[in-house]
Amino acid sequence: MTETEKTKGQILSESLLSKKENVFEKNAEKLDVMMAYAEDYKRFLDGAKTEREAVTELIRMAKANGFSAWQLGDPVKAGGAYYFNNRGKNLFLLRIGANDIAKDGVRIMAAHIDSPRLDLKQNPVYEDSGMCFFKTHYYGGIKKYQWTAIPLSLHGVVILENGEEVTIKVGEDERDPVFYINDLLPHLAQEQSAKPLGSAIPGEKLNILVGGVPFADENVSEKIKLNVLSILNEKYGIREDDFISAEISAVPAFKARDVGFDRAVIGAYGHDDRVCAYPIATAIFGTDDRDHTTLVILADKEETGSDGNTGMNSIVLRDVLDSISASLKADPILVRANSMCLSADVTAAYDPNFADVYESKNSSMISCGTAMCKYTGARGKSSTNDASAEFVGTVRRIFAENGVSFQTSELGKVDVGGGGTVAKFISQINIDTVDIGVPVISMHAPYEVISKADLYSTYEAFCAFCKACRRN
Ligand code: MN
Ligand code: MN
Repeated sequence: MTETEKTKGQILSESLLSKKENVFEKNAEKLDVMMAYAEDYKRFLDGAKTEREAVTELIRMAKANGFSAWQLGDPVKAGGAYYFNNRGKNLFLLRIGANDIAKDGVRIMAAHIDSPRLDLKQNPVYEDSGMCFFKTHYYGGIKKYQWTAIPLSLHGVVILENGEEVTIKVGEDERDPVFYINDLLPHLAQEQSAKPLGSAIPGEKLNILVGGVPFADENVSEKIKLNVLSILNEKYGIREDDFISAEISAVPAFKARDVGFDRAVIGAYGHDDRVCAYPIATAIFGTDDRDHTTLVILADKEETGSDGNTGMNSIVLRDVLDSISASLKADPILVRANSMCLSADVTAAYDPNFADVYESKNSSMISCGTAMCKYTGARGKSSTNDASAEFVGTVRRIFAENGVSFQTSELGKVDVGGGGTVAKFISQINIDTVDIGVPVISMHAPYEVISKADLYSTYEAFCAFCKACRRN
């Protein structure tokens, strides 16, 4: 037997046994492409830190790619490319193909564009002990202690009494000031340090430091607060009452940066879930498929449970499908029944530093490709879509035919915790849906980490899905 001849066992091992492969190694010839794609993604992240900014930036990209504005009730035609801006916080992108959508269905790709953050309360401003603060109410699942003592920026809109909309974005430009949440010095933190992590920083202590110079007038009280409000009034024309009709969020002021000597991974705020939204958008922008109809939904409110009229649990997706069906004279019941969806959200990457909460055989591994989750949920698969074996088979075939690197994923050990995604809201209107997405390290932290290999393989997965046939 020569050295090159394989034993029967080796041959069988290769053909029968599944294995996870590092995509940087497996697709080494694509390294430059992965790196270049990541540069564009980082630019997108830095310009889109809230769902509103993501919608604005994606509309700009959509227009540059030939998409035109569309509203519910507007006609569509084969070959058309449209965007639907739902209240500035939820975006639909649509390409109408030549095929009959009652038979061929719609290829739906969904992700969310909101991320955990701190929202200002409706009466946020107060002064105490030489400092002015904004009170906040946290949005989504955060570990509160992670949000103290880091630079924050403020993003949002204020609707004035006369209806005028004022946009606010402070702390991203290098010349801007940033904002800050105080923490206790270790010298006095003996009691705090003994508390469980979850209660060491209560929600009501997440107050943002915004000022310290008193207004120069002996005849007024709360001079620092007045000075802050006078600066805001000068710059934005707002009064204290205007915070009532405002949505202003504090987010980490960090820029997206490469992490590590080899630049394999990206650290950034809000990978969850823009690391799926960006590949989806670039896939529909770039696809040369003109046969199939493709719909992208970029939803708001996922981090608070998908409720509200810009969240995935809103009827608006059904309204969009009904509206398209009516225009194309197709039965919407058949359109939904023959559609299929990749519901994209991040998943937890196996972390050897916290190995005890993961089940290594069924966790996604960083850099091993986009992760498919047949089911999410908690405990006994509570609140999960649990895609059918048949549909997972369809998606698996699509990936195999197009050379997409993918792996499976489950969110940690069975009894440890769990989490849900928007997949269940799409499947409940009779659309075959499965979760895929990018494995994340330190999910929901102010600075999360993802692999450029997983980012790119997620993009390849959506490119394949745009042109996929429903069945063999
Ligand atoms: Mn998510
Ligand atoms: Mn999340």
